Amino acid sequence: MAGTTDRVVATQTNYEPVIGLEVHVQLLTASKIFCSCSTQFGNPPNTNVCPVCLGLPGALPVLNQKAVEFATLAALALNCRINETSIFARKNYFYPDLPKGYQISQYDKPLAEFGFIEIPAPAGSKKIHITRIHLEEDAGKSLHEGFADSAETTAIDLNRSGVPLIEIVSEPDLSSPDEAYEYLTRLCEIILYTGVSDCNMEEGSLRCDANVSVRPRGAAELGTKTEIKNVNSFRFIRDALEYEIGRQIGVLEAGGRITQETRLYNSNEGKTYTMRSKEEAHDYRYFPEPDLLPLVVEKDRQEEIRKRLPEMPEARRRRMVADYGITVKDAEVLTSTKALADQFEAAAKAAKNPKRVANLVQSELQGRLKAKGLGIEQSPISMQGVAMSADLVERGAISGKMLKDLYDLCFERNQDFPAVYAQEKPQQLTDSSAIQKMIDEVIAANPKQLAQYRSGKTTLLGFFVGQVMKASKGQANPQMVNDLVAKKLEG
Ligand SMILES: [Zn+2]
Repeated sequence: MAGTTDRVVATQTNYEPVIGLEVHVQLLTASKIFCSCSTQFGNPPNTNVCPVCLGLPGALPVLNQKAVEFATLAALALNCRINETSIFARKNYFYPDLPKGYQISQYDKPLAEFGFIEIPAPAGSKKIHITRIHLEEDAGKSLHEGFADSAETTAIDLNRSGVPLIEIVSEPDLSSPDEAYEYLTRLCEIILYTGVSDCNMEEGSLRCDANVSVRPRGAAELGTKTEIKNVNSFRFIRDALEYEIGRQIGVLEAGGRITQETRLYNSNEGKTYTMRSKEEAHDYRYFPEPDLLPLVVEKDRQEEIRKRLPEMPEARRRRMVADYGITVKDAEVLTSTKALADQFEAAAKAAKNPKRVANLVQSELQGRLKAKGLGIEQSPISMQGVAMSADLVERGAISGKMLKDLYDLCFERNQDFPAVYAQEKPQQLTDSSAIQKMIDEVIAANPKQLAQYRSGKTTLLGFFVGQVMKASKGQANPQMVNDLVAKKLEG
């Protein structure tokens, strides 16, 4: 008899999930999208406000050019076509944190369309299409806790009202929670490379809603979808999708129907719950914003902005593999942030052997960082430090053992490599008579290996070198040991 797990697996393979993501990204402008108020996070509530972002009667919006520039840059990085003319529209809904009673967004004529992101897939890569990217203003924030009367009252902070956002809407091209996770990771990486947002999920600079439905595998028609709102980490989005897909399959298998609705994810329980029935676009009574002119980004301006695009992460990884002879895995680690990749490249260019720099990062740095629970950006050893240590090993000034000890000290003292090296000034043993003496002792202690070596087993050279290095506690110059042992054994 098949167990429950088998049945679940069998059922899951009969269905195909269809997932589309809507991602809101806050743009890193100094001021809001339609007024000159600061966008600074964490200021006292309701201090970054003015008549425009408070929605007072008669106040008129003025578009922030920097927001347009940033949105265009992001759209180009995501392979979108920029519409020369796009239109701002009012999205009407009533909510306490929306003082005007509408949000200025874009509707049928968005800033950009037809983009894509490539994600890794078993067959190499898969293109996830981006339907549209539009500009809009953020709403304020309702605070349900943190005040003495929070049990009865909700407080409103309008500092966030009018902060510029782009909404990036994908096609429903994603067919698993893992693909959704990959897509978000790549999306975030690309946005970070452009520098238009910090994508900080904790501060709400990146928010994600997921639309998900299931259909019998191979069916052309889409199933009824639900929307999962405002999940605050990529991992939770993956978990929420996992749960929601299972729930929908369960409902269908039991002969039920999926209700189109918005659901909230509870990360403590790992479950989604009904929040409200899903709005349709017509519920928002969109119409063109009469207080703003059509937004025009001319071809010349687009090209000017395109020139500012940095090399994108995927292209950079390919180039780094070619330029430095490192592995794809090395390149992935080293490009995890643009700052790190920049530092690595600067260090690798300056170092005698770039491959050794990459190897040290992988072998010596990563393990120590992991043990301390640190990200590579928090490493006490900078990329310059790694480059310096690589050069010292390269020219034989320190041994591999010394390098390991020095790295340990860097982590213990939370100091960079050059500082620790200057304090310790580890000296290699280069006194040939002292090394000679150790070699004699090692040979005397291993007559069997000596006999084997002399009868032709020359690979034992490594054994003797190793024994001598050990006897010197890693202090002897490895090249000298190698040469002297070889000479001695021949003699
Ligand atoms: Zn304002």
